[in-house]
Amino acid sequence: MSRAMQDWDLVVTQLIDHAAREHGSREHVTRWADGSETRASWASVRRDALRMVQALRALGIRRGERIATLAMNHARHLVTWYGAAGAGGVLHTINPRLFDEQLEYIANHAEDRVLIYDAAFQPIIDRLRSKWTTIEHYICFDSGAHAPSFEDWIGAFDGDATWEAVDERDPCMLCYTSGTTGNPKGVIYEHRSTMLHALSGIQRHCFNFDAQSVMLPVVPMFHAASWGLPWGGAATGVKFVYSCVNDAAVLCDLMNREGVTHSAGVPTVWLAMFQHCDATGRELPRLKQATIGGSAAPRFMIERLMRQGIRVAHAWGMTETSPIGTVGAPTHDWDSKSFEEQVDVVQMQGRPIFGVELRTVDLDDMTTELPRDGVSSGALQIRGPWVIKRYFKADEDAANAEGWFDTGDVGIIHPDGTLQLTDRTKDVIKSGGEWISSVELENAAMGHPDVAEAAAVGIYHPKWDERPVLFVVRKEGAALVADDVIEHLKPLVAKWWLPDAVEFVDAIPHTATGKISKKDLRDQFSDYRLEA
Ligand code: AMP
Repeated sequence: MSRAMQDWDLVVTQLIDHAAREHGSREHVTRWADGSETRASWASVRRDALRMVQALRALGIRRGERIATLAMNHARHLVTWYGAAGAGGVLHTINPRLFDEQLEYIANHAEDRVLIYDAAFQPIIDRLRSKWTTIEHYICFDSGAHAPSFEDWIGAFDGDATWEAVDERDPCMLCYTSGTTGNPKGVIYEHRSTMLHALSGIQRHCFNFDAQSVMLPVVPMFHAASWGLPWGGAATGVKFVYSCVNDAAVLCDLMNREGVTHSAGVPTVWLAMFQHCDATGRELPRLKQATIGGSAAPRFMIERLMRQGIRVAHAWGMTETSPIGTVGAPTHDWDSKSFEEQVDVVQMQGRPIFGVELRTVDLDDMTTELPRDGVSSGALQIRGPWVIKRYFKADEDAANAEGWFDTGDVGIIHPDGTLQLTDRTKDVIKSGGEWISSVELENAAMGHPDVAEAAAVGIYHPKWDERPVLFVVRKEGAALVADDVIEHLKPLVAKWWLPDAVEFVDAIPHTATGKISKKDLRDQFSDYRLEA
């Protein structure tokens, strides 16, 4: 009685086949760096991806080999997602914001054979070409000045080809985590894991889009598979609006002109958008859903978007989890909650999407499972079919013996399954044997109107082991002093959480993906001492 259903491997080319067949004329808009715009469609993306398959075959690219991109968001970049995977290859999206040493390392480690890049990144190519030992072919997305142009390269072929036959457990994509210590680590996504992640991600409780939706993904295509949007978008036939520049004025203009209903990005994207709207009096009347993730969405941001009638999907995930793990979505009792209570819920990181499971374990022994009681805080672990088992070229499994992956995050799970992230295991501050959340401290500090940015780190203390020190960037023109910050924090956090010192700095260091780099901050202040 077994195997009575058709053999149908879950491979990503089914997504583009479906999009071209069922939503073929649905268009995509690209706004290029020079201000020009071009239009494509799901049908043209598929045709161009098949041309790329032919072009890769002509270069002798074989199954499993890596094809890298160094590019912003645009429809030609989308073509390479399907073209590389459709040729049986592995698309390696490189983050151009990484440092040269990291860029050198990852392209060599990945053994990329082809690199397709935006002309804007020509200086990176010029600096690193001699150090990249495996790249044989350079192709430029938008200009043929230094390398063959992408359009010419695929234009030599007619698209009359078939996708490479692959197994659903074959790799289709490679992303490196920007890791705060050591070399970046590669995460290999498989056809099956990508398909399952896409199918869960498009549901109403997650990205919540359909064929009427117009999606402007601000999250870059090189960051954690652009949260799976290029795959999930094809399954639903959304219209994509891409911008090669992340300037708020450009994004706002595109959103209004193209009728963007859905967008997704890290919190800083929305900060810039608010500033632009405040300065110009513009609004985003057509936006229905903002997906925010990558780092915690601040309360005022959630409130402001929700007051405008925009649904905020606050999501948590990692490169290692494809990336979506949890998303905040309205629960059955949503309508009975007050506005403030709804904001309280959205401020947390949401609930697991179908397909993954979460648990927290004791931070000291890393094994004792903690209750889902809304109070116990522990190391967050996750498992599921799109969660990493092993890093690229690593011998050991990233998951522990019971098949759970250690996320490095610290959180609380509430009785209804809602995840509340409180810190990173490396950043949580241990004072007198008790844990202090650095993230909660800095979020509370950021609520002060004169604080532009704040970061809390644990500094060695002779009596308490560690005590929090808060580093603060003042808003321009503000005359804020340490006592003002402490007074502001007093009603918001436990007394013993109050920082031992508040230090004002001109800037706080960030990682290549725009997150606060606590490691760099700690290095910068390695000589800092607290008295007993
Ligand atoms: P990356 O692999 O670069 O996407 O980074 C993943 C990490 O970003 C997670 O392990 C979290 O520490 C952090 N992160 C992602 N989403 C959120 C969120 N909604 N709130 C707080 N931190 C987040």
